[in-house]
Amino acid sequence: MLQPGASRPEASRGRRYPEVPAPTRNEFQRDRDRIVHSTAFRRLVYKTQVFLNHEGDLFRTRMTHSLEVAQIGRSIARSVGLHEDLVEAISLAHDLGHTPFGHAGQDALNECLLQADPGSEGFEHNLQSLRVVDELEERYPSYDGLNLSFETREGILKHCSRRSAQRLDASEPGGVARRFLDRTQPSLEAQLCNLADEIAYNAHDIDDGVRSGLLALPQLREVPLFERIEQTTLADFPQIGGRRLLFEVIRRMLSQQIYDVIATTRSALVQAAPRSADEVRRLPVLVAFSDPMKQQSVELKRFLRDNLYRHPQVLATTDQAKDVVRELFAAYLAAPAELSAAIAGNATPRRIADYVAGMTDRFALREHQRLTGRTLFSATY
Ligand code: MG
Repeated sequence: MLQPGASRPEASRGRRYPEVPAPTRNEFQRDRDRIVHSTAFRRLVYKTQVFLNHEGDLFRTRMTHSLEVAQIGRSIARSVGLHEDLVEAISLAHDLGHTPFGHAGQDALNECLLQADPGSEGFEHNLQSLRVVDELEERYPSYDGLNLSFETREGILKHCSRRSAQRLDASEPGGVARRFLDRTQPSLEAQLCNLADEIAYNAHDIDDGVRSGLLALPQLREVPLFERIEQTTLADFPQIGGRRLLFEVIRRMLSQQIYDVIATTRSALVQAAPRSADEVRRLPVLVAFSDPMKQQSVELKRFLRDNLYRHPQVLATTDQAKDVVRELFAAYLAAPAELSAAIAGNATPRRIADYVAGMTDRFALREHQRLTGRTLFSATY
């Protein structure tokens, strides 16, 4: 079933701390199970994707986003012969390093860390996802982190600056950061997760955008992909409108993008004919959209950026969210005794950043209120 360039658990580059194989599960299944049972994974339920967690019960959270990425990733993996368990593990872990309040939280935390420790690398959610699974989870008797296999960790580290790559490669020579220095590719499964992430958020942000009232159907017709699919949907179902029309258009958009990736990737794999997962790493990216679909995806992204992510109402809440993160960081830096006992004795800026990054939206708001006496946002918990 697997194509020759797929990752194979029996050929894994292994774990940082060698372990006896599990009796009934392959190494990638085991990684997925460790991720699902981690604390960081459960926190994703209460972390913002685009809309703050308290703004409504039906918006995507980091958790439901991650599940959608896994669903899309697995269905493509099965069709092109990639390892589904690895795709699932990477998808479920890919956002573990996100701060509360989404990208606003990350930007604020990055500023705080650079100010408190000017020589540091600052805060970046991708590096943090790796840090969560490598160091911050405390669940096993003899090591920190989840001790995941190389292939899952490689997929989690999607981006990395040269400087961070050099630091990581010094502590793990030839490890997961090496490819950013060598400019090689990750596994096909990791390539797939990047694309599944993009397909998932482009579709669900339209849905959430309309649900929130910040986007309207007529406006969405500016997006060629949306407009074209709406026409064909209405040709098939002239009587539908409103939400049912929206959902059908989104459903077809997802299907078309998924079928496009499957067809494009299949032919790229036939052309390049990699004989092993290692050979894949030396080739160009093979899991991809066709050029026309890539173009349409770029247009959709641009629309969402201009009309949703930069909507005045979204920007107003992100400004407040940044204040919460900045003030929390400053409060802990000034009074480390306020931190959880486990880190209060060694409260470096980096450890404060880890603590704040791990918070859910609502825990961050409660802590902020406790430490500053101010209540931001109207939500009460
Ligand atoms: Mg994501």
